[in-house]
Amino acid sequence: MANCSAPLRYVLPDSILHQLKAGRQVKVGKNGYIDLLSPQEHEGRIKAQVSRFVEAMPLEAEAKSRVIQQLNRITFRYSSAVRYPTFFGHSAALDALEMPPAATYWRSEYLHGEENPAFNAMMHLIGHFLRDAIIGKDQPGYDFLSGNCRGQEVVWTHRVEEEKDLFDPARYISFQEAGADFFAYLMMRFILTREPEFVNKSLYFHPGYLQEFETGDKARTIKDKFPAYAVPGVQTSYWVTYYGAACTEVPARVFADFLLTQWWFTQQTENGEPASTFQEWLHARAFTPQTEFLIPGPDPRDDAQTWGLIPARQARLVPASPKADAEADINGRSVRNFLQIPAVYLDTGKVIHIARTAFELLLPGSEEFKRIRLEPGAQLRLGTDFEPNLASGAFRFRSAVDFRTPLATCQAKSTDFLVRLEEEETLFETYNGSLSLKSEKDVEDVMAGEGTSVNKRGRIKKATQLKQLPPPVQPIKHRHPFQLDGILHEVPQGYRK
Ligand SMILES: [Zn+2]
Repeated sequence: MANCSAPLRYVLPDSILHQLKAGRQVKVGKNGYIDLLSPQEHEGRIKAQVSRFVEAMPLEAEAKSRVIQQLNRITFRYSSAVRYPTFFGHSAALDALEMPPAATYWRSEYLHGEENPAFNAMMHLIGHFLRDAIIGKDQPGYDFLSGNCRGQEVVWTHRVEEEKDLFDPARYISFQEAGADFFAYLMMRFILTREPEFVNKSLYFHPGYLQEFETGDKARTIKDKFPAYAVPGVQTSYWVTYYGAACTEVPARVFADFLLTQWWFTQQTENGEPASTFQEWLHARAFTPQTEFLIPGPDPRDDAQTWGLIPARQARLVPASPKADAEADINGRSVRNFLQIPAVYLDTGKVIHIARTAFELLLPGSEEFKRIRLEPGAQLRLGTDFEPNLASGAFRFRSAVDFRTPLATCQAKSTDFLVRLEEEETLFETYNGSLSLKSEKDVEDVMAGEGTSVNKRGRIKKATQLKQLPPPVQPIKHRHPFQLDGILHEVPQGYRK
């Protein structure tokens, strides 16, 4: 037994008690071994195991040592404030994780419990921690993860805000929970192959619910009852299947790849947010060139389909900044709770009016999100295939999107252009590529560096050189901390680049 600083207790399970008869020898503990540790020793062992995992991740040296230092600084705060180890997400600093009272939590009942063994629950918390420590928190401010740090229960039925704010927190919570469980699962695989002593002799190692992710049976049952993209277990099962044998062979590399995929979503949004829902993760994975990842895989959408993980296509409306002031009217209903909701989800047919601050509109395309920045006052309606029907205000297009105004239709071969609908006329400026305009009376091509306008009678002016071009769009500055040297460059068959 190790040195202890707290009174320890190991309760014999009934299966052992029944065997205790006079003259009979009985093996107690795990295969006859007992290791009772103080809470501090548990923490030390967990941190050491996670450190070895982080060491095996392909991270840049600087990021690696920063993450390991942060890990070693974590305090586990034991109190009766929570019943289970809980990650409080954005409201808490990364240096403290909330635990139930140590005297109850580290007792043997939790070690034998298959449902939620203490050791796994700690790893789950560290999964949350690592995500934030490695790729950074999402936008600061919203706090829907707080108190929801569990994969079950109310997560996928918690859909009240969808009515009020056109936002479903279950998508976000379930993705974070599934990701934390995926880390706990990979950590189990990591330990299983590398620490047989610990696996075979320690009371504290128990795969618990983590093995459920391997068969996916439970996930399949649940997905028949709830939307799979809001259920953590289904998502974790999907990743376990998707990464396959790599989960056992190179678990640390798989987790790095999983986070890198989240990071890639930053390149597809105006604000540079990492993927925070399964849909965003899938999008980043499907539309980022395969060579950018650490683990090559088949088209991730094929599998996702069978797991019920491709939700209906929706547009996504996100405040560009600042969130506290952001306000948009959707079909006449005002949404301004953007400190608590990262995005509004929109079906076809919705009418959007930007009341305050600029917004980014992401339209679902077949290959990528189409991006449009909406300035305050902008108003548009989404057509039956999300095609924008502009009604008033200014729009800076960041993708080639065909659109319509009351006076003209436009085919876009440009990924940077401006449209401004004013009282008397509609102005067009093309910064790259070209626009083909058509009104009732005229047609006109507007080439890069040119501008034109359509008046109320539908006459299109001949395009002329712009006097001044707007400053070029600043590329997103985020850098990821992953070491991509030596990644595989072959694209497996069937993968669409
Ligand atoms: Zn959690």
